[in-house]
Amino acid sequence: MTAPEGARTPAPVAPDVLAARLAAGRTGRGALLVALDHDGTLSPIAPRPDLATLAPGAAEALAALAGHADVAIVSGRGLADLERRFAGLPLTLVSEHGLRRRDPDGTTAALAPALDPALLDGLRARLAALLADQRSTEGTDGTADASGGWLVEDKGVAVAVHHRLVPDEALEPTLGAVRTALEDAAGTTGRVQEGKAVLELRPAGAEKGAALRTLAAARPDAFVVMVGDDRTDEPALAAAEALGGVGVLVDATGRPSAASVRVDDPAAVVALLVALAAALSRG
Ligand SMILES: [Mg+2]
Repeated sequence: MTAPEGARTPAPVAPDVLAARLAAGRTGRGALLVALDHDGTLSPIAPRPDLATLAPGAAEALAALAGHADVAIVSGRGLADLERRFAGLPLTLVSEHGLRRRDPDGTTAALAPALDPALLDGLRARLAALLADQRSTEGTDGTADASGGWLVEDKGVAVAVHHRLVPDEALEPTLGAVRTALEDAAGTTGRVQEGKAVLELRPAGAEKGAALRTLAAARPDAFVVMVGDDRTDEPALAAAEALGGVGVLVDATGRPSAASVRVDDPAAVVALLVALAAALSRG
């Protein structure tokens, strides 16, 4: 993949060492804002999005940290999905890559203009026709998925096509046709984004970097931390660094990123959150 703008090789840092650094970053500031992606960051990547669950200890760590910091989840998932996953936790939820925000008190707000509903309807029909031809291939997870592993996730305000379960040899030319269908439906307000085994059409203004800047603008005294694993997180990782905070990449391979530091996996993110909550509780 193309290296993100401003990319470097993030330095690997042990979670407890990084926690001490982030706690020190807050010193002299009024607050700490910690924003985290969900999939691949707080939750190991699953074969299908609906099978993903939080890493062990993640909910408890988020609850502990929320006692000392503003904690936000910034995810590509829909708002109802995030509300289920983080039920009972005092978190800000930013859904669909920055389209909508729900504050801890339950207030919701739009952060970006939505897609044209007529174009979305046309896309749904076109994808259904396109993927109806794929039924000769069986899903690899034992669920005998009738779509040959293709999974259309309709978020209402965005449409994602997942292909993690599609055998490599069956990917093309369907993947190219899916990409064309999404691009045709983008119109003037949409944008097609590629992530890990997913192609997604979403509102062009819904972007994690802009979302993080909006959250940070509401807390101008905060030291800003963003934790994420995928290329859709890169604008937010870059924004955290540009705001004088820290971008933390979740990655064990040492790939280039706008983030300055990295931790290996969701388990390391949980360890980081636990250590950070402990450091903040000591003042
Ligand atoms: Mg992710």
